Amino acid sequence: MVIRLVSHVYRRRWRQPLHTAHGVWQWRQGLLVKLEDGLGRVGYGEIAPLPSFGSETLALAQDFCAGLGPTLTIDDIRAIPDRLPATQFALASALEQLQAIAAAPLPTAAASRLSLLLPPGEAALEAWSPLWQEGIRTFKVKLGIAPGVAEMALVQALVAALPAAAHLRLDANGSLSLGEASQWLSLCDRLRATPDLCTIDYLEQPLAPSAFPLLQSLAQRFHTPVALDESVATYHQLENLYRQGWPGLFIVKPAIAGFPGRLRQIWAKHRLTLVFSSVFETSIGRRAVLALAAQYQQHSGNHLALGLGARHSFEDDWDDLSPDQLWQRL
Ligand SMILES: [Mg+2]
Repeated sequence: MVIRLVSHVYRRRWRQPLHTAHGVWQWRQGLLVKLEDGLGRVGYGEIAPLPSFGSETLALAQDFCAGLGPTLTIDDIRAIPDRLPATQFALASALEQLQAIAAAPLPTAAASRLSLLLPPGEAALEAWSPLWQEGIRTFKVKLGIAPGVAEMALVQALVAALPAAAHLRLDANGSLSLGEASQWLSLCDRLRATPDLCTIDYLEQPLAPSAFPLLQSLAQRFHTPVALDESVATYHQLENLYRQGWPGLFIVKPAIAGFPGRLRQIWAKHRLTLVFSSVFETSIGRRAVLALAAQYQQHSGNHLALGLGARHSFEDDWDDLSPDQLWQRL
């Protein structure tokens, strides 16, 4: 089967620049791809690279797609090398969509199933309440942006303010020292043992991926779960650390992790707890991530909130468009 490939670069500006321990992010850039076969069947995909997590750059993905030429085969997609995990995700999920016998209904996630990022600093104390009104129950805060003492005070104030039914996730993006990570986990253990407070779901990636043995000892020393994110950017890394006995959770960012089929194989083979997360895709990438998350949920019965980010985080109106409409815009 010969499939036509067309791709378009996109560029979106955040309403509020995104602050993480990796730096400040003003623009999200990526590549949307469209596959069309001789029967007129269409599938859309999205390459949303995140080089700070070890994915390919946008330029590499563009070069690769240009090299594939205007037409390709299913074997060409299967042969996309592992050094291009975001490209693997995009073309394989577009192909799955194209091959679906009936157009699958657009997967959606109720607000109560989403985890949303709160703004840095004191603004977090104001920001959660309107989101709570919209039905959001799980919130996330980035650590490693301000001094630790200030961040600990802020998290304690936030925990005191949030309703008991709320969930809070802390994400250090690998920026803490061992001492700081221990302090955070002690604080989390204390808060989790205090009645009538919100639930602290986990501390995400306290240390850099290179410190895996220390991460493992932290996960064993404290009650608060530790989640790996940067450490398991690809499915190869995820399976490897599972085999090394990682006792905690895994954050999965399907858009940069490789072929979706590989993740389905992993969860069929191993019993592991996955939390699905976005890399700020458009609705095209988000749809493929949601479809995969729904399959995992059905398989595992795991209902942990999805870290898919808020709609309308960007200055454009793309989140309101269908894939066809979005494609027309580019
Ligand atoms: Mg993270």
